[in-house]
Amino acid sequence: GKRAFIAGIADDNGYGWAIAKSLAAAGAEILVGTWVPALNIFESSLRRGKFDESRVLPDGSLMEITKVYPMDAVFDGPEDVPEDIKTNKRYAGSSNWTVKELVESVKQDFGSIDILVHSLANGPEVAKPLLETSRFGYLAAISASSYSFISLLQNFLPIMNPGGATISLTYIAAERTIPGYGGGMSSAKAALESDTRMQLTVLGLNIVDIICMHPHSCVLIQVLAFEAGRKHKIRVNTISAGPLRSRAAKAIGF
Ligand code: NAD
Repeated sequence: GKRAFIAGIADDNGYGWAIAKSLAAAGAEILVGTWVPALNIFESSLRRGKFDESRVLPDGSLMEITKVYPMDAVFDGPEDVPEDIKTNKRYAGSSNWTVKELVESVKQDFGSIDILVHSLANGPEVAKPLLETSRFGYLAAISASSYSFISLLQNFLPIMNPGGATISLTYIAAERTIPGYGGGMSSAKAALESDTRMQLTVLGLNIVDIICMHPHSCVLIQVLAFEAGRKHKIRVNTISAGPLRSRAAKAIGF
């Protein structure tokens, strides 16, 4: 079977959880990356059976999560972590959660993965219109929501099996004006989409397919492809997902 790493699950309400379930139902082994500050509550909820009802797969069995890794996708390596985060109580209890260290841990534990899912975003000033957004807020949105995918790709590619696939989640606000999606989040999604296309241009491959998935919420899948070296054939996809009342979406009043 395939092994999938899903980055950005901290409860059972978001896209990451739903994607994990679909992959589990299709027979994949599930590894999860959870934002460090959300790790304790997610792991204890899992243990206490709080998610058991939503772990049920179509065949009646429960989705198994083989391992939950702490991660913070805004830090590439330990040298990037500032003192206040290092000493923060919520971070000090976990280790190896920068992107490089995370991938090293996955490599040591499992050797390789087949599927990488990026289902995370953060915009500290998302509630502010773009014109009221600070430089800090804007760059933080790009760091957590766009560069995080580049960083995950850079580090996971060497341990991805040929024929593997990566996917991220984007939002229509990248293309059209959606009031309320502020703080540079629309810009961050535009960057994510552009970067997904860029994989294509840089490596000279073609768009494989554009599929309309979900007629109700107008979900588009853009299937792009690129070659990492000559050996690996890894697809890079982004899904423009419809509105879902996840924790992240509730936080911005969607
Ligand atoms: P969610 O809250 O379930 O997922 C977002 C996750 O990102 C959370 O688990 C959070 O802990 C994690 N996260 C935030 N900062 C992080 C960091 N620095 N490092 C690691 N993890 C971090 O919400 P969701 O809405 O399911 O979001 C998943 C993806 O779907 C996001 O990319 C989001 O932009 C996208 N999306 C959501 C909607 C929607 O309406 N909910 C629509 C289109 C796209």
